[in-house]
Amino acid sequence: AHLARIEAVDEKVHAFLHVDREGALKQARAVDEKRARGEKLGPLAGVPLALKDIFTTEGIPTTVGSKILEGWIPPYDATLTKRLKDADVVILGKTNMDEFAMGSSTENSAYGPTGNPWDLTKIPGGSGGGSSAALAAYEAPLAIGTDTGGSIRQPAAVTGTVGVKPTYGAVSRYGMVAFSSSLDQGGPCARTVLDAALLHEVIAGHDPLDSTSIDAPVPPVVEAARNGSVAGMRVGVVKQFRGEGYQAGVLQRFDESVELLRELGAEIVEVDCPSFDLALAAYYLIAPSECSSNLARFDGLRYGLRAGDDGTRSAEDVTALTREAGFGPEVKRRVMLGTYALSSGYYDAYYGSAQKVRTLITRDFEKAFEQVDVMVSPTTPTTAFAIGERADDPMAMYLADLCTIPTNLAGNAAMSLPCGLAPEDGLPVGLQIIAPAMKDERLYKVGAAVE
Ligand code: GLN
Repeated sequence: AHLARIEAVDEKVHAFLHVDREGALKQARAVDEKRARGEKLGPLAGVPLALKDIFTTEGIPTTVGSKILEGWIPPYDATLTKRLKDADVVILGKTNMDEFAMGSSTENSAYGPTGNPWDLTKIPGGSGGGSSAALAAYEAPLAIGTDTGGSIRQPAAVTGTVGVKPTYGAVSRYGMVAFSSSLDQGGPCARTVLDAALLHEVIAGHDPLDSTSIDAPVPPVVEAARNGSVAGMRVGVVKQFRGEGYQAGVLQRFDESVELLRELGAEIVEVDCPSFDLALAAYYLIAPSECSSNLARFDGLRYGLRAGDDGTRSAEDVTALTREAGFGPEVKRRVMLGTYALSSGYYDAYYGSAQKVRTLITRDFEKAFEQVDVMVSPTTPTTAFAIGERADDPMAMYLADLCTIPTNLAGNAAMSLPCGLAPEDGLPVGLQIIAPAMKDERLYKVGAAVE
């Protein structure tokens, strides 16, 4: 049924870069056969899923939304892919994304934009716009995203779906193409809080192949999602997350959500996190710095695109020509920014300062979490904007992640879930819930209560 739905609507939505029709049917049949033989089935047996095209899939193309990996067929599965298969999930295909997960609209994909199913002239968020659009268009009931600065939560917010960035290190990064390694985190996308929790438990857990993977039990997120409640909880409203640039309808729905939390028995406390004002600036030094280093591996020699190799050119020239042809403008902008920020003489002023700000942001969270159990904010300052509207204005684009970035810098957990439609444009608004690191279950407890 989902393959038929994809066939019917994806020409318009363009959520998928690759639909693995044969593979999905084969996986589904294998589940049926297992069931017929009376074998033990995985926890999500037969449930279809849309996988962001940033996770390697053995035998299935993985492009990261980039021309530089066009046609590349990975020889191995990411740990996350493997876990999905072990859970008997049916992988429908790979979803569209901003190139190397750099962006907030999916317009930076080298393969064309994705439409927001609520209004196809609007962006579905980014970088994981394909995954969120697939959910909103009922092309898949579950999806996977990655969140470096908001790429799970912001797309969830603007498409009226649920997205979770687990605590950094909860979900293995092995086989997840690296953008900014100290920030990147895979996570679940779904249409309900409980669905997200069921997927969370399947993909999270220690992986010896990822040196930053947390070696501790997965928080009891499914149990929390089944027992939603905020009675007696202290909920912090972040003072810094409102004001200029926030759409009136977004703030209205957010305030109503806070009122609902109060009615359900939560104590509302205002929390002050002054360093959050510097988060965007710190992020746009740290993320490009790490990406300039991570993307050095795309040299045109080992895998993916190779341009200009006519037998007369040096390896250096081939690498330069390949990167010129294979990377899009946003990726080049970031590699240049990052290389500059890391260069000797500038390192302390830029990268070093950004790391200090990162520490201050972490301390703001620690102080706030001494007073409250979770924090809440709008996920994004505005609802979905029009395709093309911010494409030539990187600064305007970067502002989409104002409320989501501090969590990545500190490494703790956050969720976005729908909290109604903005009255002025009828588009979905996201409520962000933030929890301390390793307390991911609180997101689900609160989310299930207000859903
Ligand atoms: N929009 C942010 C960026 O462009 C975040 C992207 C992400 O989380 N992958 O970097």
